[in-house]
Amino acid sequence: MGTEETGEFMFDVIVVGGGPTGMMLAGELRLHGAHVVVLEREPQPPKVVRSLGLHVRSIEVLDQRGLLERFLAHGQKFRRGGYFAGIDKPWPDRMDTAHGYILGIPQTSTERLLTEHATEAGADIRRGSELVGLSQDEVSVIAELADGTRLRSRYLVGCDGGRSTVRKLAGVGFPGEPARYETLLGVMELTAAPQEVAAVMTEVRKTQLRFGVGPVGDGDGLYRVVVPAGGVSEDRAVPPTFEEFQQQLWATAGTDFGVHSPRWLSRFGDATRLAERYRVGRVFLAGDAAHVHPPLGGQGLNLGLQDAFNLGWKLAAALHDWAPDGLLDSYHAERHPVAATVLDNTRAQTELIALESGPRAARRLLAELMDFEEVNRYLIEKITAISVRYDFGQGHHLLGRRMRDVELKRGHLYGLMHRGRGLLLDQTGRLSVSGWTDRVDHIVDVSEELTVPALLLRPDGHVAWVGDDQQELCTQLLRWFGVAGN
Ligand SMILES: Cc1cc2nc3c(=O)[nH]c(=O)nc-3n(C[C@H](O)[C@H](O)[C@H](O)COP(=O)(O)OP(=O)(O)OC[C@H]3O[C@@H](n4cnc5c(N)ncnc54)[C@H](O)[C@@H]3O)c2cc1C
Repeated sequence: MGTEETGEFMFDVIVVGGGPTGMMLAGELRLHGAHVVVLEREPQPPKVVRSLGLHVRSIEVLDQRGLLERFLAHGQKFRRGGYFAGIDKPWPDRMDTAHGYILGIPQTSTERLLTEHATEAGADIRRGSELVGLSQDEVSVIAELADGTRLRSRYLVGCDGGRSTVRKLAGVGFPGEPARYETLLGVMELTAAPQEVAAVMTEVRKTQLRFGVGPVGDGDGLYRVVVPAGGVSEDRAVPPTFEEFQQQLWATAGTDFGVHSPRWLSRFGDATRLAERYRVGRVFLAGDAAHVHPPLGGQGLNLGLQDAFNLGWKLAAALHDWAPDGLLDSYHAERHPVAATVLDNTRAQTELIALESGPRAARRLLAELMDFEEVNRYLIEKITAISVRYDFGQGHHLLGRRMRDVELKRGHLYGLMHRGRGLLLDQTGRLSVSGWTDRVDHIVDVSEELTVPALLLRPDGHVAWVGDDQQELCTQLLRWFGVAGN
């Protein structure tokens, strides 16, 4: 390890932002021994609970890294409809996953568990460190912090949220639509009886879906309150006042439920924007820094975790000098369209929950259509990211999709992927990864759930190849894991 003055790299990767995306990425990079620092502006972890749950593909990536047990211990599994425009239909059967449920877990717990994991894995996490400047040349990036410190690294990733400083400093456009509506979100106590709260909720939510009052925690009298704001604020970083909450509750529900003793108050908007580029030279964007949209369907945090899961192994490959041409650019090529699709489904949902009679009629019609199982499934597969398929070219229907976990004779597939390496799952016993054994594991095993002879999985669990031909396999090993070594 050297210093900037000696011209050596202090870090392999600087991760700016210690939210869920940044912490997930730091953990992934540490799997490959990368020297990572996470710069987080806030001195203390946030109190505000935004996300309340994890969807299927995020649950899978946690399982694939051996982290799921600790999340399950702090969350609750449920299968509930209502994730597309709040339309309550049963959870579809036969989803392409071994984890067909939603994991209810507050964002603060998700962040704490990911931070613990990144710390245990050896990431250097610096709270109270704000990035204010950025420059790069052909071999390195220099980050300037608010206290004047300068850090050098080979790559830098902006995981610094919707108002990303990294995105602005890198000159990346963020086109889309500004917020039209704003919603207040807070946690407080109230004096109204639970039955009264439930009755008012049911009545108001017949038309106003941006409203909700529900208990949080284990019967400690705290409620999460969501209510439309009176307008769009100049600066959303400034929290609303408690009086604003009371006023808006009266305006929306005809009562303020006797709210008192707020623990925290916040606001969020429905701005919908997508970064033009996810990469500028050695600088990358991930999570909310790359995309913002209204929280309909609960997708944003999930999208960020999966950005990190996509990028981590690719940066590690570049750091270890085996990244094939184009691997780093494949991050934008794969993840940008996924975010564009999520933005679109939240735009559609925003229209469908509007109060006017036209959108309400469209919503009723969609609710009828969702009684067709395939329609219901199609929409839930969008929200849960099950339908994500990267474009790896023509081929088998599994190509480009994330492989679900399957039972093998020697255990389960995800249990073999904790180290973040590629994996050849070989039911033929005739194939070889010779030359790539430093990057790719070879498991000869069989599964009753698998109808293909062999699968090559990338470290992020996406299917890179399906078949039984050694020459074809070598072509794909070269494509994803670079030139053969040992
Ligand atoms: C009401 C609400 C409900 C939601 N519900 C869900 C849900 O159910 N499911 C879901 O998937 N998503 C949900 N989301 C979205 C989710 O909260 C975000 O998508 C998620 O927090 C994005 O994570 P991130 O790490 O990319 O960014 P952030 O969580 O915004 O983290 C960015 C971090 O970067 C730090 N930072 C910023 N600037 C700098 C700087 N210059 N230097 C250093 N550090 C900096 C910030 O302090 C912050 O800690 C919800 C959002 C809202 C508002």
